[in-house]
Amino acid sequence: MQKNIFDNFSLAGKVAVITGGARGIGYAVADCYCQAGASVALIDYNAEQVKQSSKALSAEYGCKVESYILDVAQPAKCDEAIAQIVQDFGTIDIFVGNAGIIWIDGAIISEEGLNNGIDKWRRIMDINLNANYYFARSVGQIFKEKKSGSFILTASMSGSIVNVPNYQAAYNVSKAGVKHMAKSLAVEWASFNARVNSISPGYIDSGLSDALDPAILAKWNSLIPFGRQGLPQELVGAYLYLASDASTYTSGSDIAIDGAYCSV
Ligand code: NAD
Repeated sequence: MQKNIFDNFSLAGKVAVITGGARGIGYAVADCYCQAGASVALIDYNAEQVKQSSKALSAEYGCKVESYILDVAQPAKCDEAIAQIVQDFGTIDIFVGNAGIIWIDGAIISEEGLNNGIDKWRRIMDINLNANYYFARSVGQIFKEKKSGSFILTASMSGSIVNVPNYQAAYNVSKAGVKHMAKSLAVEWASFNARVNSISPGYIDSGLSDALDPAILAKWNSLIPFGRQGLPQELVGAYLYLASDASTYTSGSDIAIDGAYCSV
């Protein structure tokens, strides 16, 4: 703990790993962490975008930013990436599990009958939920040895509520799992002083909703008490808090940032 309260928010000397860091929320978090003094490893399967994003951040802030190209749904690749990051950066202090996808026409029983979507259901679970378990195994070992570390998961308000109309049970269930994974790991990892928390955004203007039906999007937007979607930049204060020494007694928490959507 520093004497100056603002120094507690510094990430100087820390190494942060962010999955889904090529664009959207992950990129905004990376930008914030670089500004706070961290070195950053970006993980993404969008090779072009993640290389471009790493270059842009290190040029802007003069910090070390490297990109790692992999599909987080592959456990062996996740292990390899973490080993490589430790080799390249020396350690890991902060992990942000943020890569995620949606499945917009995922009604289990559609008007045409049974939606044959077992592969899609599994893919959503693998990327949104299971990948965080794959990374928790290797990152948890590092945090245990250090007796410190912050593990942050991007959940969603869809992990708590079901919006209307709704054809995305898989997404909702995966995000409910993410929230509860954070709570479960928070208790498990407390014995070695590592913290685990989640953040639950509402509707955020990022690339994720590009594929949505405009009519559904308009309906959802009309229900936001703030009358607009949030911006990725409006989330980063929470990610900074959870990554930094300002939150040394915060673990097992979920921070909702949704323009009061879940308060209605
Ligand atoms: P985005 O589509 O802009 O960014 C997601 C990033 O994850 C992309 O760079 C993509 O390439 C990467 N990614 C996806 N699958 C991957 C995989 N298998 N392996 C490696 N990289 C992969 O979306 P976003 O809005 O920035 O979403 C980030 C997180 O926030 C997601 O977990 C999403 O579910 C969550 N979230 C978003 C919103 C929203 O309204 N945008 C709301 C709540 C939660």
